[in-house]
Amino acid sequence: MFDSKSLSKGMSRSMKLVFVTGGVVSSLGKGLTAASLGALLEEQGLRVGLQKFDPYLNVDPGTMSPFQHGEVYVLKDGAETDLDLGHYERFTNVALSRKHSVSSGQIYESVLKKERQGQYLGNTVQVIPHVTDEIKTRILSGANDDTDILITEIGGVVGDIEGLPFLEALRQLALDFGRTNVLFLHVTLIPFLKASSELKTKPSQQSVAKLREIGIQPDILVCRTERPLEKSIRQKLSLFCNVSVESVIEEKDVEISIYELPLCLHEEKLDQLVLAHFGMPYRPSNLDTWKTILHRICSPKFHVKIGVIGKYVELKDAYKSIYEALFHAGIANECTVEVKPIDAEWLEQHQADNGLSDLDGILVPGGFGTRGIDGKIMAIRYAREKGVPYLGICLGMQLAVIEFARHVADLPDATSTEFDAQTTTPVIGLMEEQKGNISKGASMRLGMMECNIVPHSLLEEVYQTNTIFERHRHRYEVNKQWCNLWTEKGLKIAGICRNLDVVEAVELEGHPWFVGVQYHPEFQSKPHAAHPLFKSFVQACIK
Ligand code: GLN
Repeated sequence: MFDSKSLSKGMSRSMKLVFVTGGVVSSLGKGLTAASLGALLEEQGLRVGLQKFDPYLNVDPGTMSPFQHGEVYVLKDGAETDLDLGHYERFTNVALSRKHSVSSGQIYESVLKKERQGQYLGNTVQVIPHVTDEIKTRILSGANDDTDILITEIGGVVGDIEGLPFLEALRQLALDFGRTNVLFLHVTLIPFLKASSELKTKPSQQSVAKLREIGIQPDILVCRTERPLEKSIRQKLSLFCNVSVESVIEEKDVEISIYELPLCLHEEKLDQLVLAHFGMPYRPSNLDTWKTILHRICSPKFHVKIGVIGKYVELKDAYKSIYEALFHAGIANECTVEVKPIDAEWLEQHQADNGLSDLDGILVPGGFGTRGIDGKIMAIRYAREKGVPYLGICLGMQLAVIEFARHVADLPDATSTEFDAQTTTPVIGLMEEQKGNISKGASMRLGMMECNIVPHSLLEEVYQTNTIFERHRHRYEVNKQWCNLWTEKGLKIAGICRNLDVVEAVELEGHPWFVGVQYHPEFQSKPHAAHPLFKSFVQACIK
């Protein structure tokens, strides 16, 4: 039962569809390519939609380990999504919600629910048409009433068995919408072989052949490469992949920052190609915002080194939005922010003085479980005692309270019930609404909520307002039982959520800059609009 209403709605106002697929290997940067294309089309004054469809069976990535999936990116409405949605929000002005992050798990969940409700009227429920119809409906419902171009990224690599129903759905949409209203953009790898010193096109040829087998002819090939794509390579790709030579686009590894990418793809005329395909006018644009960002990145006046103490420091993607937010704060302060990822367990064995003495600032990000908490507490103690600027996010805030309780407020056994359910000093405890909740999926306090900043606090100075809206993802909270003691001893409650009567932020009196927040400011930072908290933190590190 393909929802033909959304189809005709999209067609009647001639919305255009761009599908982004990936070839050869995963982690090619499809998300960054899609986000950059979104940015380029917004520069053209178009209203763009961006969304990601992931073929895995988890309902959402909320339950996946950072080893498998990198960071879980949280949207305003509390959806736990793929980190590519973070790129979409950082590069463009799209307003994303739960409907923009869809997995096979969600597709099958709703098909099976409909089957149980008898909605298929006695038919045999099949991948084609029932699953593909569900995918098509979901793709089109990602558009708003005024979307001009809807960009949909398909996760995984062409050739994956689980991705097939998605590609089949795309093929059908091209038939429904008409080929000139649908553009297939295939991001592929052109590996460089050192031994023969040449770029190889065969893997890309084969991945395009796989697409064509299911009836999809890519219109544009975006080629990820370490070396420039010579004309002969472009011609070869054009011939074997059946795309015009102008539509073979080079996407070299960026040298300075991912924020170069819109400029690089513009240079390769990606925006012009897409608009020409749709028969839409192109107006010359000079991409000033992106040039300014790049200029600021390239001419820093300061340099700071910030230690991020975590459990997954070897993974580039586990703290993606935090690293990006620090980078944005660097741009805003004309400062290069060097991030030193420090393994919390390493710190436990080597002592704080050994690993932290060269740092201008310390950040403890969010996290779950007991592994590494002693190392993180050690780093927080170091920051507090030595006057090093400290930013604690979520778990990093909870541990700052525990550290303060143990070493300043004389509660040596203070801990969180997350680490010791039987503790007699639960300075951090399970939120009331979480008690008795056994489901692991989408069961935390999630999404954007109002927080109230306490007057005359550092936070008030930072935000320049007393009402803020920030995104959350946690189960535990500061136990109010001890709040008077904290205040008396110098840990100020700087933010609360009046609606839920919970603590949102703490800060240390008499310290140059020591803030812990229960929420996740990193999800609202952009390269041209650094989050005020990160901006102020980096400023303090410079001082
Ligand atoms: N584990 C803590 C909680 O659930 C912190 C969560 C986080 O840092 N995102 O409350």
